[in-house]
Amino acid sequence: MSGKCDVIVIGAGASGMTAAIAAKNAGANVTVVERNSTAGRKIAATGNGRCNFTNADADDIAHYYSQNKAFVEGVLKRFTVTDMLELFDMLGATPNLEEDGKYFPLSGQASSVAELFERFLKKNGIDVLYGTKIKDIDLTNKKLKLITDSGDMWADRVIIATGGMACPDSGSDGNGYALAQKTGHKLTHIMPVIVQVKTKGGFYKRINGLRINASVGLEVDGKIIQKETGDVMFFDYGLSGSAIFKLSCKASYALDAGKSVFAVIDFVPQFETDALKKYIAHRCTVQDCSTGDMLVGFVNKKLIQLIVDESGIDIAKRADKLSEKETASLCNVLKGLKARITGTKGWENAQATAGGIELSDVDGKTLRSRLDERIGFCGEILDVVGDCGGYNLSWAWASGFVCGSNIVCQ
Ligand SMILES: Cc1cc2nc3c(=O)[nH]c(=O)nc-3n(C[C@H](O)[C@H](O)[C@H](O)COP(=O)(O)OP(=O)(O)OC[C@H]3O[C@@H](n4cnc5c(N)ncnc54)[C@H](O)[C@@H]3O)c2cc1C
Repeated sequence: MSGKCDVIVIGAGASGMTAAIAAKNAGANVTVVERNSTAGRKIAATGNGRCNFTNADADDIAHYYSQNKAFVEGVLKRFTVTDMLELFDMLGATPNLEEDGKYFPLSGQASSVAELFERFLKKNGIDVLYGTKIKDIDLTNKKLKLITDSGDMWADRVIIATGGMACPDSGSDGNGYALAQKTGHKLTHIMPVIVQVKTKGGFYKRINGLRINASVGLEVDGKIIQKETGDVMFFDYGLSGSAIFKLSCKASYALDAGKSVFAVIDFVPQFETDALKKYIAHRCTVQDCSTGDMLVGFVNKKLIQLIVDESGIDIAKRADKLSEKETASLCNVLKGLKARITGTKGWENAQATAGGIELSDVDGKTLRSRLDERIGFCGEILDVVGDCGGYNLSWAWASGFVCGSNIVCQ
């Protein structure tokens, strides 16, 4: 390709900056246009400020959701976890493997990743125009006209990397969907994911703000389809925490499909049910106290009232007077308190967007539009979302690379 192909990338986020690097490597003149005054504002907020940028398991399609998983798999095959680790090494963000296969930069600072990208773009002659919002794309001429809030720009090719709707304060507030729709592309149903869930009933109000470590099963139409262990936080509206975030993608899709969805909380995953029954029965006989006091030192004290109430037991009843049925009921609640999930929190709280630009409008090999091959797409704007654990940034790097490498002028 000659160096005469002018490419404009809309959005200096994870996917846009990767696309810019790839397009530059393919020989294009590249300009990135970003509405914010800095690049990678969302990157700097990822992973609780530490940037969980990929996962050892990120090549596995089971962690992604889309109407066309084969499309997603094809892209991930062309930019694998190994490529992502090399990209980060090249930038200078030394990859560090932590628990559950999660990779973070060794600095532990997400802001350092944004800074390294910005530095790399500058060093490699990729201009970034900050504080400029693209408002429309005019397709009528051979060159694309991009209408910004401070004048028009012209390009041979444009990459729409404007992100989804999650965390709109970061700059990705869904306006990219309008840009894509105005140019004829279809949008699937979108919803916030990796987000807190709302539950039925007010029983969490009493323990608002409590954080524990527990195992949570996601029950959909009576069947446990996913189990996660980690932080669980109780709020007056429902549940949060890392275990909940990991379940939230599947929960959102199931709710959207009208299925009955429950979080089943196991407060003592360290015990198998039978072992728990024996242990509690033993504890009841040796503790010489009320049922409530018998649980002190076994579960968080703030949970005791809730657990005995849900078991249908009077908290003051002597533990050694519990019937077999009552002990069994107590153990059932300890191993599986059920909360019906009725919905999720909204876009402000969400980390990602499920749904997006329909993949049937995009060529899976090049990520160029099937409607106008001068337009490319990458990142969260597309109908692809991943689980919590580094999968969404993985999609951003992979789709950015594939899109940028293929946005060639013929
Ligand atoms: C709080 C939080 C934590 C997260 N943590 C993780 C994590 O640890 N691991 C993980 O894998 N994923 C995480 N994610 C998800 C991940 O950050 C996103 O999926 C990813 O950043 C999407 O990349 P993108 O390039 O598609 O979009 P973005 O990163 O959202 O970038 C889009 C850019 O486009 C700009 N823009 C939008 N419209 C215009 C316009 N019209 N003109 C000019 N510029 C425009 C925006 O300002 C923005 O900078 C997290 C998300 C959030 C909100």
